[in-house]
Amino acid sequence: MTLPALPQFVTWQQALREAVRSLDELLHYVQLTAEQLDCLPDPAFPLRVPHAYVARMQVGNPHDPLLRQVLPLRQEQQVVAGFVSDPVGDGAAQKIPGLLHKYQGRVLLMSTGSCAIHCRYCFRRHYPYAQAQLHECEDKIAYIQAHPEIWEVILSGGDPLLLSDERLRDWVQALSAIQHVQSLRLHTRLPVVLPQRITTELLQALSSTRLRLVLVIHANHAQEIDAEVMQAVQALRGAGMMLLNQAVLLRGVNDSAAALVALHRRLGQAGVLPYYLHLLDKVAGAAHFAVTHAEAQALMRTLRESLPGYLVPKLVREVAGMPYKQPID
Ligand code: SF4
Repeated sequence: MTLPALPQFVTWQQALREAVRSLDELLHYVQLTAEQLDCLPDPAFPLRVPHAYVARMQVGNPHDPLLRQVLPLRQEQQVVAGFVSDPVGDGAAQKIPGLLHKYQGRVLLMSTGSCAIHCRYCFRRHYPYAQAQLHECEDKIAYIQAHPEIWEVILSGGDPLLLSDERLRDWVQALSAIQHVQSLRLHTRLPVVLPQRITTELLQALSSTRLRLVLVIHANHAQEIDAEVMQAVQALRGAGMMLLNQAVLLRGVNDSAAALVALHRRLGQAGVLPYYLHLLDKVAGAAHFAVTHAEAQALMRTLRESLPGYLVPKLVREVAGMPYKQPID
């Protein structure tokens, strides 16, 4: 069988522009049909996936763990009790548009509403980004200046690494100028889904600061971490950043001990330490990904038996209104 050729891109911006946005195109690359997968387009949260990520999917495999993360299934349209539009209480934690203050000493800034990939289980898939005035910087800086207890700022989104290098440099410099801020954390999926984004210019823009830099990437399966991702991660570490990973426990993607052990061993090889393994946030449209507490606990027991302690993530769930992520032992 001749497999469809995937295009190559010169710049990350071009790769982003040309990301796969149609179900038919994705199905063509993986050589599967909508009937086999029981999927259909969802205009409210449209398909988006970079070619670099598609290239790591196994052609002809309807159960491919990367495909399952981006595939809009018909099941998403079902209304399931308990699955809501804002499962983690982002709305209540928003102090000013685009700034969430949930936890002691830390604030989260939504710097953009865009992502390179649309993950079907995303707890912000219904977030009203358009109302969050994400491009306004001054109010957010003023809020942080007025709260001397804030020592860590989290740039999130959307995906903050979709901002231009110039815009990121502006954020880094504005935050560096606030004396009580010591640490800047970025939550990003780009090193995994669009590793081309990790350029020398980006590293320069981020590391021109006195702040301690922490980068939390988001990989859910070992198959996501290919040689190019390894290289991107090494470049980030080489620039002095602390690299952590958070994953979501997803039915049909990584809900087996073998998949989780392989993921955390691969992360260890890349020099990325595990941070959290999240139970699914109960967002509307994602119920088919849910794994029960009991299953998650059993998986964690096997992880503890199979991995050195430093590669075992903390299993947590976020409960709206609680002052920290709730550990599950
Ligand atoms: S915010 Fe993260 S999890 Fe949600 S769609 Fe974007 S990349 Fe995926």
